[in-house]
Amino acid sequence: MPLTTESQELLPINIGGEMRLGGGDESATLYPATGEVVARLRAPSLADVDEAIVRADHAFRTSGWAQKKPHERAAVLHRVAALIRERAEPLAQRQRLDNGKPITETRNLVASAAATFQFFASACETLEETITPSRGDFMTMSVYEPMGVVAAITPWNSPIASEAQKVAPALAAGNAVVIKPAEATPLMALELAALCEEAGVPRGLLSVLPGRGSVIGDAITKHPLVKRVSFTGGTSTGKHIAHIAADKMMPVSLELGGKSATMVLEDADLDHAVNGVLYGIFSSSGESCIAGSRLFVARSLYAPFMERLSARAAALRVGDPADERTQMGPLITARHRESIERYVDMGLSEGASLRTGGARPEGSLYERGYYYRPTILEGVKNSDQICQQEIFGPVLVAMPFDGEDALIAQANDSVYALAAGIWTRDYKRAWRIGRAVQAGTVWINTYKQFSISTPFGGWRDSGLGREKGRLGILQYMEQKSLYWGLNEQPLAWAN
Ligand code: NAP
Repeated sequence: MPLTTESQELLPINIGGEMRLGGGDESATLYPATGEVVARLRAPSLADVDEAIVRADHAFRTSGWAQKKPHERAAVLHRVAALIRERAEPLAQRQRLDNGKPITETRNLVASAAATFQFFASACETLEETITPSRGDFMTMSVYEPMGVVAAITPWNSPIASEAQKVAPALAAGNAVVIKPAEATPLMALELAALCEEAGVPRGLLSVLPGRGSVIGDAITKHPLVKRVSFTGGTSTGKHIAHIAADKMMPVSLELGGKSATMVLEDADLDHAVNGVLYGIFSSSGESCIAGSRLFVARSLYAPFMERLSARAAALRVGDPADERTQMGPLITARHRESIERYVDMGLSEGASLRTGGARPEGSLYERGYYYRPTILEGVKNSDQICQQEIFGPVLVAMPFDGEDALIAQANDSVYALAAGIWTRDYKRAWRIGRAVQAGTVWINTYKQFSISTPFGGWRDSGLGREKGRLGILQYMEQKSLYWGLNEQPLAWAN
């Protein structure tokens, strides 16, 4: 299908509510299935970044957004949700072009963005401030205030959904927001900001500043008017941001990488487990922080399970993201595919053997895109680098295990602790292992299912803080205690 985009024109970006060309470097976003240019834009200059943040701060103080009653802000956010739903198909198609995910997946991401705005609209108008038990001649209250300008820094793998997860609660809380989307996928953040403005978010309260993270993201994080950073991305970038935040005494939330363990016990329902393991690692081409990329299978089940799993992996429909039947699209960039190829080489040089995949698919369909076959490596030890490093692609490492204690010890032997999956019919073992595994999310007899009403985040190198859930809005608010004096007499000390 030919691209019908504005590929020749430079796309304006949103600098403090003004749509104009940035003063920085030109960059192009490419369709990963063909390498064609989807759009070109110019990144903001550092002066543009400063202007956007100063304007956001001004809009925060003067637009009246923070002073609106919660139900009034909620009404605007409900309109954002409605607009996303109204434009769902063009948004999903645009996101497909922006990051090459299959259309069936980008439709889900768009639906999830709408649901996120709806959810935080409700969280906003139902958030309660409390009267705390008084311990003197005063009434005590605990209330919440917006912070000012907050930054949302997002990766390229699920643009509109990850941006909504930050922008919706931040706006619901009454803040201004500066979005820094990934350089490879700037388009959905621009669309989202335009929809927010159309729904009634005051102009200038939202900016979209695409561009290189080490320049633009860094400048945003360091800016004195930015009061909080909500970051999703790699662990090393997250640690860098945490250092800057420490110098500014600025709160941050960090949603980082993972190397999640999936565990198949002897008594698992095999049909469910095979499907779940496949979906857990190979959906989104494995470009997913929660990808179940380390597989542990009970030794007695290992041979038949791996036989079925690898046959199914080899038969996955890899191809055109526009085709409704496609299960795995291309990877985000040619460079990212090269990095995955290096990881597979590293695994093989550590002694792994290739069960399936390990190469680019062949045929005319795959010639221009950044495709890679679903890959399974085995004959590895959990301590090998291939089992410890996040690959962020369609590569699964598989190991047999003996006994529950050894399983738990290996599952927890990772710097990451984002997610885990357990496949068993024995609910008591599921309970024991589910509680013993160190991870932000544990799925039992399912995998990679999400609910906006349930908090999400990682332990250790997988992150700090939680997104989503009714209380996710509090990340973007400062807590304040109010004491109301009820004394009939002056304070005793001053007498
Ligand atoms: P990344 O390189 O860390 O980039 C993430 C974002 O940070 C991008 O917008 C990037 O901009 C920006 N950035 C880069 N350097 C920066 C700096 N010095 N200061 C401020 N911002 C900076 O990660 P990625 O490769 O895009 O994404 C893959 C990683 O994200 C994986 O590790 C994955 O596990 C993780 N992830 C985590 C979650 C979660 O919820 N836990 C969800 C999705 C992805 P540029 O694009 O311009 O470099």
